[in-house]
Amino acid sequence: MTDKFRAIRVSKAETGQKTEIVELGLADLMDGDVTVAVDFSTVNYKDGLALTGAAPVVRTWPLIPGIDFAGKVETSTNSDFKPGDRVVLNGWGVGETHNGGYAQKARVKGDWLVKLPDSISNAHAMAIGTAGYTAMLCVMALEKNGVTPDKGDILVTGAAGGVGSVAIALLAKLGYRVIASTGRASEADYLKGLGAAEIIDRNELSAPGKPLGKERWAGVVDAVGSNTLANALAMTRYGGTVAACGLAQGMDLPASVAPFILRGVTLAGIDSVMAPKAKRIEAWSRLAKDLDLGKLDAMTSRALLKDVPQLGQDILAGKVRGRIVVDVNA
Ligand code: NDP
Repeated sequence: MTDKFRAIRVSKAETGQKTEIVELGLADLMDGDVTVAVDFSTVNYKDGLALTGAAPVVRTWPLIPGIDFAGKVETSTNSDFKPGDRVVLNGWGVGETHNGGYAQKARVKGDWLVKLPDSISNAHAMAIGTAGYTAMLCVMALEKNGVTPDKGDILVTGAAGGVGSVAIALLAKLGYRVIASTGRASEADYLKGLGAAEIIDRNELSAPGKPLGKERWAGVVDAVGSNTLANALAMTRYGGTVAACGLAQGMDLPASVAPFILRGVTLAGIDSVMAPKAKRIEAWSRLAKDLDLGKLDAMTSRALLKDVPQLGQDILAGKVRGRIVVDVNA
């Protein structure tokens, strides 16, 4: 076991922030009872914000960004983990206030880790990543609120992005009819390949709308927020549920109470970062069962650690399709 490892580090610069690849030692890692040899990380929307400084995601300087990783336990003083265990980490402030996944080593609290199901390899775990695990949390929220496939269509916004792509694959396999909303008409075949039955232009949803519209879907997985979420709510069928997890269009919600008080619509908030461990274990075991790995491969591209800063810019510009696996050792 070598003490030295490569990592991406962000630090404060005179103007904005500096992002560089550095060699660090184990002593540079933060407190934790489990040290992990990281195999893969990924690039989520929030990583893009952290890498570019576009929003104040990083709150401890300097920091290794990367809100998730998959790897093998190297050393552990936590009785739940032993060397060789395959683990995944999502959130808990990792990549924000605690050193994160863009490194060959990570040291974290064992309580933050989930053991990976046998059928999900470490590379597939990061093809899923926080985006895909959040998509699963959204689907679980729809189910919990009684939105079964017979109740009607499901709208997925931000469809060609990470959350959207995994949500479509999951919902299609579970028997739902999926309407995918995208700004990239060129990705229609890709979205249909994942299981979307119908594609709509995101411009249909992105402008200010009416308090109530025609009832079009029984459920929504929304990665976009703002007017899109308001319009999605206004067009949700009586008794339906909207799972809101993202803000790609904006953090605002210019909506009215009409869908709630006239149609009994439920707005379910989805947070992946502080979700309790039992929910995470459930989500990862559901992903093992309900995500078609062929479709996951079809939505995933590979990258190296050195590609990550550029990919951070690309994901904020809406140029990334599906998911990216970052091999931190290549
Ligand atoms: P991606 O960038 O991969 O996907 C976002 C998608 O949103 C884009 O691909 C694009 O889809 C669409 N989009 C982008 N800009 C706009 C815009 N201005 N108006 C309308 N649509 C837009 O990001 P992720 O999938 O990683 O994350 C999606 C969202 O979910 C982010 O806001 C992220 O912060 C949030 N998130 C929240 C989590 C939580 O715990 N609540 C966890 C994980 C993610 P298309 O090209 O198809 O239109």
